[in-house]
Amino acid sequence: MKTVLITGASRGIGAAVALMCARRGHAVAVNYAFNAAAANAVADAALACGVPALALQADVSKEAEVTAMFARIDAELPPLAGLVNNAGVVDVAARLEDHSYARWQRLFEVNVFGSFLCAREAVKRMSTRHAHGFKGQGGSIVNLSSAAARLGSPNIYVDYAASKGAIDTFTLGLAREVAAEGIRVNAVRPGVIDTDIHDLSGMADLALSQASLLPMRRLGTADEVANAVLWLLSDEASYTTGALLDVAGGR
Ligand code: NAP
Repeated sequence: MKTVLITGASRGIGAAVALMCARRGHAVAVNYAFNAAAANAVADAALACGVPALALQADVSKEAEVTAMFARIDAELPPLAGLVNNAGVVDVAARLEDHSYARWQRLFEVNVFGSFLCAREAVKRMSTRHAHGFKGQGGSIVNLSSAAARLGSPNIYVDYAASKGAIDTFTLGLAREVAAEGIRVNAVRPGVIDTDIHDLSGMADLALSQASLLPMRRLGTADEVANAVLWLLSDEASYTTGALLDVAGGR
């Protein structure tokens, strides 16, 4: 049995991925930032599937918290074989001229540097470059990008969209960097998915009201995104790396 770490798994897409991993027999590390009760509930539901599971607090943008989280995984769970860089934040919908520098900093620290930090720690554990001191057996990293990376999100959050553009480029580069070391790196680009994230941007009503304008006339579900993530994590995707997979209902 191998472990999958899912960042931001207390709710939304991350929680759906964690539960699907548990149902398929993976041990899960359920990372969260603030909501311990929700993360513990996800870990308990995973335990009920008969797999090891731990809820682990760490703000992915804080290096010391990330390294402490990986140390706990090393000590308390089976070897790490999967990382889902899912933790992500938006900010209130606003045009660029109304953005603060602090807003940009937070978006990039969580969405981009958080993914870099977790991927760095995962590569150290998964890499088969044994001559360089690594002891891994390979693995799979899935980054949560967004359709916003190709649409740009004008008038809403061009900064968030740009942070996801960075994730796309990171995915392409890291995939090639570690391709010969047994590690695959891919990204999923969801469209508008029915989760709490839209409450935080003040866009919940707009997201719902725009559903009828989407090609499929509805929002996506967290489970529909999780299905794509699980495929990329699995051996069924053994020759897929550096892929940016749109799960956006045709958007
Ligand atoms: P969500 O419902 O808002 O959940 C976000 C999760 O991330 C929560 O578990 C939250 O934990 C965690 N989190 C936030 N900041 C964190 C930090 N600094 N460190 C660790 N965890 C942190 O979001 P979602 O809609 O499921 O989105 C998940 C991912 O998909 C994000 O990367 C998002 O950008 C991407 N995405 C979403 C959509 C969409 O329409 N929903 C579309 C495209 C892409 P706490 O609650 O404990 O703070």
